[in-house]
Amino acid sequence: MTSPAFTSDTVTTPTGRFAPSPTGPLHYGSLLAAVASYLNIRSQNGTWLVRIDDLDPPREIAGAASDILHTLESFGLHWDKDILYQSRRLEAYDEALARLQKKNLIYLCSCSRKDIVQRGESIYTGHCRSGYIAGRQRYAIRLKVSKETLSWHDMIQGSQFSRLFQEHGDFVVRRADGLHAYHLAVVLDDDYQNITESIRGADLLSSTSAQMYLQNALDIEPPQYAHIPVAVNTRGEKLSKQTGAEPISMHDPARTLFKALQDLGQSPPQDLQASSIRDILNWGKQNWALKKIPSKQTL
Ligand SMILES: [Zn+2]
Repeated sequence: MTSPAFTSDTVTTPTGRFAPSPTGPLHYGSLLAAVASYLNIRSQNGTWLVRIDDLDPPREIAGAASDILHTLESFGLHWDKDILYQSRRLEAYDEALARLQKKNLIYLCSCSRKDIVQRGESIYTGHCRSGYIAGRQRYAIRLKVSKETLSWHDMIQGSQFSRLFQEHGDFVVRRADGLHAYHLAVVLDDDYQNITESIRGADLLSSTSAQMYLQNALDIEPPQYAHIPVAVNTRGEKLSKQTGAEPISMHDPARTLFKALQDLGQSPPQDLQASSIRDILNWGKQNWALKKIPSKQTL
């Protein structure tokens, strides 16, 4: 789908994205992230893109991507331009690894999970920086992380600080099974798609520092970040496939969308509840206030 309002790409066009992994049907927590990202962009008349983060075939479920896309359309969340699939971007990820290699920022690591545990390390402190154990079957590629403190501003969560090395260590950019790491792919794809703002669940807040570190290493301008509070179930667990989150009911999308606006702190008027999806989204676009999204979980 192409928005008629935009015919040319400029880096100044506000551009957001929703980037689900096809590991199961969309649940309510993901819908909140999609709605927040969609309305924040539409309120600026910007471009909203959908990307399928299908980087990890063993975790993926056949049919999940088309199921997610169908759900987005049922909620009136129509995207601009073609969908980008990470599985078709492997050459770009390898090219970035070559750039990091040239800068001497990555190294081969032969350590298994067991090796790391046996050394008593909770994070990877750089064991193979000075040479890997030869003769192993599989090697991951890790990034050399410095001990500086990173700071940035999150549009919802406010000032953030991270001691990246102490929190993540030398993290993996290509896994021992040959798959590219999520951080690497996300950073490269956001740049490739000229994403200016990344609005996503707060479960990814701790990933942001690693991604910013990679952006810096690859000379990539970071987007602005906003992390919405994570939706929890009645037991206080984050909604996810692991906690048995129910797929979104398609029975009454307008009512679910109205609830999403409420949970995002937008205080829609009660009479909007009986409106169509289109009217609810229009109200959301016209009255959208990112600053009203609660920083903590209040669902
Ligand atoms: Zn190692």
